[in-house]
Amino acid sequence: MNADHFETRAIHAGQEPDSAVGAVVVPIYQTSTYAQTDVGAHKGYDYSRTNNPTRQALEVCLASLEGAANGLCFASGMGAITTIMLLLQAGDHVVVCDDVYGGTYRLFRNVLENYQLQFTFVDMTDLNATARAFRPNTRMVWLETPTNPLMKVIDIAGVAKEAKSAKGAKPWVVVDNTFASPYLQQPLALGADVVMHSTTKYLGGHSDVVGGGVVTSDPELFERLKFLQNAAGAVPGAFDCWLVLRGVKTLALRMERHSANALAIARFLAQHPAIARVMYPGLESHPQYEIAQRQMRAPGGMLSFIPVGGVDSAMQIARATRLFTLGESLGGVESLIEVPAAMTHQSVAGSPLEVDPALVRLSVGIENGEDLIADLQQALHVR
Ligand SMILES: *Cc1c(COP(=O)(O)O)cnc(C)c1O
Repeated sequence: MNADHFETRAIHAGQEPDSAVGAVVVPIYQTSTYAQTDVGAHKGYDYSRTNNPTRQALEVCLASLEGAANGLCFASGMGAITTIMLLLQAGDHVVVCDDVYGGTYRLFRNVLENYQLQFTFVDMTDLNATARAFRPNTRMVWLETPTNPLMKVIDIAGVAKEAKSAKGAKPWVVVDNTFASPYLQQPLALGADVVMHSTTKYLGGHSDVVGGGVVTSDPELFERLKFLQNAAGAVPGAFDCWLVLRGVKTLALRMERHSANALAIARFLAQHPAIARVMYPGLESHPQYEIAQRQMRAPGGMLSFIPVGGVDSAMQIARATRLFTLGESLGGVESLIEVPAAMTHQSVAGSPLEVDPALVRLSVGIENGEDLIADLQQALHVR
């Protein structure tokens, strides 16, 4: 079953009632191995690192949601990223958006540079600067949009066009679509070759599982990634896949509410005298507002701001909220607040990606929007 609309596919793609007993929900196949009817004769499953029915249901569903031919799931977002990077060879060059996820930056700079991979970080909101960063050995372009934590919006189609017109071998365009989720933005349709997710965030949606996913419509890339998934083995367990599948069923509903709440909060903060700057792609004042309107169905649930009082106020606000829980991560039903420079983005301290210590990041949940604004209101008045 593969009905047309996103909400329907989220509930049905890869999730036909189980053929053995008719279970409506995909069972948790908590098994490492499978009985064979003869030597080498099996039903498509021989060992759960290679394939597992619960994982496969999620892989089919994720691919469907991104409009991709194929999907692969991983034990974490970083497991997915590491496996994608195994496509490269020593001497290859990667152009990366600056303001990339801190863990991605750490993997690229502190681990993969030791394997003779080269990385250039560039502000991809500037397409000319992006084009200038290409070298003859550029094999991959890596980007996130909206970016974390500055909420810059990158024109995916524009970057893909630059990559396709690069001289020599065409670099693969990989988009980390974690912040937007496939409900808000589908990079393959805009020219990307590979899309990856930390399913820990919006796809899982309930802050109860760590996972990753990769999708592509390129058959050759899929074969190589499938080989690497099995070869490197960063695969998720069946129960974790089941949790993500359950989360995905409500993705559309959740993303609508996340976006509506975040927009209301962004507007509230933008007019508040204690706030110097709000970064949210749904505000007309955002520098890439037009691109966001074109590229995204709604502006999403993440926003950042800088209080007038600087780092001391930032710390005070983060300590004073009651509904917004002080914590890392994002994309769950509950609202979170954090100070990136001291928390999620410590690993980029001292690098060109270092963030303003007064920056506060919100992952706006799906609680009642007025309650959330009231919570921020009281936190902003704490002295
Ligand atoms: C969380 C995150 C990752 C890493 O995913 P894990 O599931 O934590 O390994 C990668 N990219 C982005 C944008 C993220 O937010």
